[in-house]
Amino acid sequence: MRIVLLGPPGAGKGTQAKLLTGRLGVPQVSTGDILRQAVANGTQLGREAKSFMDRGALVPDEVVIGIIEERLRKPDCAQGYILDGFPRTLPQAEALSRVLASLHASVDGVLSVEVPEEDLVERLAGRRVCRGCGNMYHVDTNPPLQAGRCNTCDGALYQRDDDKEETIRHRLRVYRDQTQPLVAYYDKMGLLTRIDGRGTIEEISQRVHRALRQR
Ligand code: ADP
Ligand code: ADP
Ligand code: ZN
Repeated sequence: MRIVLLGPPGAGKGTQAKLLTGRLGVPQVSTGDILRQAVANGTQLGREAKSFMDRGALVPDEVVIGIIEERLRKPDCAQGYILDGFPRTLPQAEALSRVLASLHASVDGVLSVEVPEEDLVERLAGRRVCRGCGNMYHVDTNPPLQAGRCNTCDGALYQRDDDKEETIRHRLRVYRDQTQPLVAYYDKMGLLTRIDGRGTIEEISQRVHRALRQR
């Protein structure tokens, strides 16, 4: 199963990807997570990416394409994966097809998770992430059992630097301009299923499963 989760920042891609990995037994591949890890480790890649990420801009295509090429060739990706946050531009989508073709593989399905913009701002502003395991919480809709602590690993929860209202607005614009065209692109290829991203995490998870069963 090679699945792409498409959707604006805050749509719930990461949340659903984590639930799916448990069910399907394939890894979540998130370019955002890989980039944040590089920033935290202070690597060359991290130093290059940081200024783009802080502004809510996209990291240049050639950088993220390089990351993905390396990642998808790892053994744990042999049975499939859930791509979360990649591709985000047309050149990235074309590069993905090329990389997969060279591995004699292709994308099985693209799920576009759709949520109105007002809700996205609230979801992102209230998002908290575990430093230990990357689990996502929300201060109102999905709070941890103990304030500031992860339910599964007891790690400290933090707010991402780019989850500030001004940066959020900019990221939503970037999504509209650069990523949204991929919805039509994958629709034309017959790969797209639209998922209503409003409702509880469990409801959306059920829609995702239904969509995948029909693929
Ligand atoms: P969200 O889903 O909340 O928008 P991500 O964790 O997917 O956030 O991405 C965070 C940031 O990392 C993006 O704003 C961007 O700067 C960078 N990034 C992640 N994936 C990509 C990508 N495929 N192309 C370019 N930049 C990316
Ligand atoms: P993305 O990866 O698309 O940027 P996340 O999965 O990180 O989105 O979710 C963004 C925020 O919204 C997180 O705080 C998460 O806990 C919360 N969230 C996810 N799904 C839902 C939902 N169905 N209803 C309300 N809040 C949600
Ligand atoms: Zn944790």
